[in-house]
Amino acid sequence: MDLGIKGKRALVCASSKGLGLGCARALAAAGVDLVMNARGAEALEASAATIREEFGVEVVTVAADITDDAGRAAVLEAAGAVDILVNNAGGPPPGMWTDWEREDFIAALDANMLTPIALIKALVPGMMERGWGRVVNITSQSVKAPIPVLGLSNSARAGLTGYVAGTSRQVAGSGVNINNLLPGIHATDRANALDKGVSEAQGISMDEAKARRCAGIPAGRYGTADEFGAACAFLCSQHAGFIVGQNILLDGGGVNATL
Ligand code: NAP
Repeated sequence: MDLGIKGKRALVCASSKGLGLGCARALAAAGVDLVMNARGAEALEASAATIREEFGVEVVTVAADITDDAGRAAVLEAAGAVDILVNNAGGPPPGMWTDWEREDFIAALDANMLTPIALIKALVPGMMERGWGRVVNITSQSVKAPIPVLGLSNSARAGLTGYVAGTSRQVAGSGVNINNLLPGIHATDRANALDKGVSEAQGISMDEAKARRCAGIPAGRYGTADEFGAACAFLCSQHAGFIVGQNILLDGGGVNATL
């Protein structure tokens, strides 16, 4: 399917690895020029070089922390007027509800709620003026079904979801569509880190931790970054102009709910 976005320009945050990289690759495959970001320069440059070579699109890289003011300013300066924004950052650490103090919540809110909101506020007005734009926020299945050990994530992402629900409807009339993609478990470094935590806490092997997790997923496996990226590229496409403020689960059926 021709996504109709060849020649558009996208900022994909936190995209040297994992789900962000999956989104960057799928957009590049559709002919979109990219601004890619991550903190670590080495993996970022390596992923950007592969994308340039494989898809022949322009890729600008900015090695910076997207969750702090200076990092975000550097990314926005390099990005200029983008047509597509994919919001992403690392997820908060797991723990118990008794572990988290005010500063832990502030850090989680900064990374997973206030950073995407700041980028939306910076970039969406230009999209509205030009009459076309797409924003996809990578959130989590925890928005629909809480993951108890990820209470910081549950809280911060719920805040972003509420913001997007209202804001997406305020900007849709200008041709700008904002939606959220909710990953269930996907095979990335983040999933490995979570599985390592389970393996250590329960005294089981990593393979056993993964097998137990798969047993709770009707699809019987982890998702891939490529599958995730394809869904993101579709939401950024010309075909998605009537999709507004939605929360789309990509979880292999893991969340057991009718709606
Ligand atoms: P990942 O494999 O660990 O990759 C994270 C990427 O983000 C890396 O490129 C990393 O590079 C970059 N990054 C992290 N923090 C950053 C920051 N502050 N500023 C800029 N770049 C940053 O993680 P993932 O699995 O793709 O997860 C992406 C998001 O989806 C996370 O918020 C995660 O919680 C959420 N999620 C993932 C899953 C899953 O199963 N994978 C499920 C639900 C939700 P650097 O470290 O070099 O910065």
